[in-house]
Amino acid sequence: MREFDSKDGVMLFGGMPVTEIAGEFGTPVYAIDEARLRENYRRVHGAFSRHMDTQVHYACKANTSLAVLKILESEGSCIDAVSVGEVMTCLKAGFTPDRVIFTGNNVSNEELRAVAGLGVMINIDSKSELERLAMIKTGIPLSFRVTPGVGSGHGEKVKTGGEGAKFGIPLKEAVGTCLRAKELGFDPKGVHMHIGSGGQSVEPFVDAVGVIVDVANRLKDNGIALDFIDIGGGIGVPYRPNEPEMDVEGLAADLTEMIIEGTDVRKLKIEPGRYIVCDACVLLTRCVDVKDAGVRKYVGVDAGFNTLVRPAMYDSYHHVEIGNKLGRACTAKYDVVGPICESGDHLARCRALPDPEEGDIVVIYDAGAYGFSMSSNYNSRPLCREVLVFDGRAELIRESERIEDLWRHQRIPERLLR
Ligand SMILES: *Cc1c(COP(=O)(O)O)cnc(C)c1O
Repeated sequence: MREFDSKDGVMLFGGMPVTEIAGEFGTPVYAIDEARLRENYRRVHGAFSRHMDTQVHYACKANTSLAVLKILESEGSCIDAVSVGEVMTCLKAGFTPDRVIFTGNNVSNEELRAVAGLGVMINIDSKSELERLAMIKTGIPLSFRVTPGVGSGHGEKVKTGGEGAKFGIPLKEAVGTCLRAKELGFDPKGVHMHIGSGGQSVEPFVDAVGVIVDVANRLKDNGIALDFIDIGGGIGVPYRPNEPEMDVEGLAADLTEMIIEGTDVRKLKIEPGRYIVCDACVLLTRCVDVKDAGVRKYVGVDAGFNTLVRPAMYDSYHHVEIGNKLGRACTAKYDVVGPICESGDHLARCRALPDPEEGDIVVIYDAGAYGFSMSSNYNSRPLCREVLVFDGRAELIRESERIEDLWRHQRIPERLLR
């Protein structure tokens, strides 16, 4: 977890007091620190590329805001996109099609046709997808997502690589599917794995890369020389105070050694999402209500699971501080809860906080990954705003929706208006 500087008890984010960001733009607001975003990108790219030619494909589902994409584009990143919407959003942000890989799962023919038409590389997820793509377009470069039989993640819902997973080509079909692709007139360029999201241990990566190395060699024996191996994303980040960071340098050294020693493949792709954006962003929300309910005390804020769903959906921990009372002694333990009409609407449980009062700015840490991008309109609440903070100044990069936006795509049949 990141530590922040403060001035007179007020947290500084990107050089700017959080009270000023909240005051200027309103709450709830996702604030993104441009310098940290760039640092995170450079750190993970540097760790791998010092051993082997490595291309980072930022997994944009973590945060698809155009300004964030533009920053990563300028850093030289490429993209991992999981829908035609993500592909088009990245093209809109300035990525050329040759920098985007589409990794779908249960992709419809309609989406395949759209993606193939945009000229991006397709990462094949099943035999069915390959055969269906062949009817639409051939001759294009492909990658093949293999299920390595190893899963990892911060919870069961985000493990994606274990045996029997809904993702990827089952291991026993991997070589056959690549051979079939050649027969159909495609050019197999790489093999891919993605074991899951937010796991903090190195072993699952090592085990899965071992499997992928074996697949690459079996392909070579069958006359298919690969350009690259793509080891996916999933590098975890510490959300709790004093939680150790994952040793990315060590991970990079171990995995690249396995590939360099074990195969002829000399290009690596990695797809970090969370690692790049997570700690570059906080969610600023305002305390609107304080309640002592006897067995529990509540800090009511203006962001709920419509704004940040991870605690409600995965029981995820996000660190919380009162941004205008940093360093003050805590007075009691509180649940931080939002305005959504469900008891599951909590952002944090049982946290020691310093005398919360109405008007305080409550800071939710590490909100950059799967924060805004998973937010919803539940309870008819407009999506919130995002600002980019750089060098002590904040700029709006996404307006909050208006109430009218909730009705934009709706129709009332004429007969109901009579
Ligand atoms: C979600 C996803 C990632 C990124 O996962 P993180 O945990 O955010 O790094 C990478 N590759 C694929 C195919 C994904 O679906």
